[in-house]
Amino acid sequence: MNDQSPSRLGAAALAAGVAAGERTAVASALNLIDDSRPASRARASALMASLPEDRLFEGGHLIGLTGPPGVGKSSLAAALIRVWRGRGLRVGVLAVDPSSLVSGGALLGDRLRLAVGADDAGVFVRSLANRGTFGGLSPEVWPMSLVMLAAFDVVLIETVGVGQREIDVAGLADTTCFVAQPYSGDTIQFLKAGIMEVPHVLAVNKTDIGIAWEATFADLSAVIAGRSTADDWRMRLVATSATAGTGIDELAAALLAHRGWLEEIRIKSRRRHACQGDWVIARIREEFGRYGVAALGGDAAIRQHIDGGEGTIFDHVDQLTARLANGAFTDAQVPQKGGLT
Ligand code: GDP
Repeated sequence: MNDQSPSRLGAAALAAGVAAGERTAVASALNLIDDSRPASRARASALMASLPEDRLFEGGHLIGLTGPPGVGKSSLAAALIRVWRGRGLRVGVLAVDPSSLVSGGALLGDRLRLAVGADDAGVFVRSLANRGTFGGLSPEVWPMSLVMLAAFDVVLIETVGVGQREIDVAGLADTTCFVAQPYSGDTIQFLKAGIMEVPHVLAVNKTDIGIAWEATFADLSAVIAGRSTADDWRMRLVATSATAGTGIDELAAALLAHRGWLEEIRIKSRRRHACQGDWVIARIREEFGRYGVAALGGDAAIRQHIDGGEGTIFDHVDQLTARLANGAFTDAQVPQKGGLT
């Protein structure tokens, strides 16, 4: 694309607004990413190319907050936001709500807005009805998270999770926090059976409603004892009451400690770059299936293409799609069924 083209200039101005944390610019940028028409895709790509790289890959803190409906995610998010705002941090929230399409109930984001109050210019909340298939997160969530990281100090992705899928958000957040009920038999079973990935921080909420949470807390401590997450972090367990306001500082401290850990062992940036690859691979797989991925040489070859190439994740998908359209399928040695990852 010509650097003087209107869409490039428009994207640069929009990116500057996003980087300055201007709410209207952030809202427009998120709408642009949410729009899958080809012209909008091109503008979204130009926008992405103009966002400050250090903010996207080095800066901020991208936190996934998940757990079953009604456990107190929105209430805890609001309480955490008060702590962060007290420290002068600007906060963006992406509230991804898979239930909204069927329940017609209040979106997570709306509940959060109510809980936080609408008059704080340092908090930005965007709702997204999850359109991801097979329980996965919507494709928009990753590029939207990047836009938010360019604009805010802390970015919270709030998702509803039940059963085996609660930790989908862990694939892209720096830090994952799972909120458990005070009587959390399921959580204990899922963790024990390895069905649920170990989150970095586990909050047992509603500790104000009775002492039964103490048994849950003790059981969870026993289950996680000696276990580490994939990044070698020892999970933190925190008892909270969003209503009484207890444990919130500890929760904020645990989240911050994990961020410190990622930065100390220098994997925050690596993780975010890996998410870029995951995103591109997921789009190719969605569009062309696993044979498409195999025809391009597999996951590792696609990652190499991204690391060695030019452009945004949208450009990479286009480039790889073009390669498939130009015959990569027929050229490739497509492995036999079952031999693919
Ligand atoms: P979400 O669906 O996980 O976002 O849960 P909400 O934050 O909307 O909370 C669901 C209900 O639980 C609401 O009625 C809250 O007031 C209540 N709730 C949230 N946190 C607590 C808590 O710490 N203690 C008690 N007793 N109730 C809570």
